[in-house]
Amino acid sequence: MSVVEKTLSQKAIDLENEYGAHNYHPLPVVLERGEGVFVWDVEGKKYYDFLSAYSAVNQGHCHPKIINALTEQAQKLTLTSRAFHNDILGKYEEYVSKFFGFDKVLPMNSGAEVVETAIKLCRKYAYEKKGIAENKAEIIVCENNFHGRTTTIISFSNDEDARKNFGPFTDGFIKIEYDNLEALEEVLKSNNNVAGFLVEPIQGEAGVYVPSEGYLTKAKDLCAKYDVLFIADEVQTGIARTGKILAVDHENVKPDILILGKALSGGVYPVSAVLARNETMCVLKPGQHGSTFGGNPLACAVAIASLDVVQDEKLAENAERLGKLFRSEIEKFIPTTDLINGVRGKGLLNAILINDTEESETAWNICLKLRDNGLLAKPTHGNIIRFAPPLVMTEAQIMDCVSIIEKTIREFEK
Ligand SMILES: *Cc1c(COP(=O)(O)O)cnc(C)c1O
Repeated sequence: MSVVEKTLSQKAIDLENEYGAHNYHPLPVVLERGEGVFVWDVEGKKYYDFLSAYSAVNQGHCHPKIINALTEQAQKLTLTSRAFHNDILGKYEEYVSKFFGFDKVLPMNSGAEVVETAIKLCRKYAYEKKGIAENKAEIIVCENNFHGRTTTIISFSNDEDARKNFGPFTDGFIKIEYDNLEALEEVLKSNNNVAGFLVEPIQGEAGVYVPSEGYLTKAKDLCAKYDVLFIADEVQTGIARTGKILAVDHENVKPDILILGKALSGGVYPVSAVLARNETMCVLKPGQHGSTFGGNPLACAVAIASLDVVQDEKLAENAERLGKLFRSEIEKFIPTTDLINGVRGKGLLNAILINDTEESETAWNICLKLRDNGLLAKPTHGNIIRFAPPLVMTEAQIMDCVSIIEKTIREFEK
């Protein structure tokens, strides 16, 4: 690397440090271009993207079909607000509702917004259809959840960094252990004010925690038994990431409320959605919820194209197949190293567990080495590294990535 080239990255990093809020701790790499499973930095070095913008770029970077839909729509009409109708919103609403098998959709922009939307919808439904007394509704959530960053959402987080000095918090949430059906039934049995159960089918941010087989099915059955809405946050696990269109599809579970974001737009534009049946969605009347940008024509065009790509290119099947291959390759490697304790995940949402404490720098340092070797990933929690490449990856590419990971671990052992 020449001195001039070095300055490009460092200049970009310095600018961010100087003028941007320091609310992230990025890996030191400055990207300027992406295509499919690859990204390039400002010095021209090429990397496999093994984060996919937290699973927003499932369809690969700058997918031509999605970019075409974006640019074509951008030249016609971008935003009307919901004060007026537009010619693509209804088309999108029909498409996305039928795609996921729901009656209706409520379009928003970010993931946190749709979690908020689902909470509001769940509460309103509880008061108006279930007859829970005003302001008494409770929603069950899980420990170590990640559902976003708003004041209400961090109210039921147990991540100290996410919460400290952001109070006072929002009431109305009961936290139980993840993957614990007894804990769920205990609360459902003893509390008549429960309106919903909000759950990630796999806990992504927490470190790719896959619950026991049958957990989602039984949790859904318990919710049905106690007349409580089962709310699946599939912002990260949805849209083919785990080897099915939705992670709940692995257990054939149909949520009462489905929350989607991230890859709904292929990472091109913020698009999120809440889906539900008519009976639930119809508690919302004009003026009771909304967003200026929610359901804008650009978002609609981008989301239709993004889902088309998932279907046309069979990305769920590809994620399922390559995910199995990836885990089996890493499992073969584990007995030969002291640095990795395990690998877990579903489809192409996986994590390796580094054999060190959560406070250690080992995982971070491995990610720096992976970067040097041409693969970008980031620790989720201290000693856990998440691997979530775009789903348009080929078998040859995933094998190449496995060898980069193994080579990096070997270098690290020296
Ligand atoms: C990323 C994420 C969110 C929040 O989405 P934003 O678009 O960052 O607001 C919510 N839930 C889950 C499960 C996520 O992974």
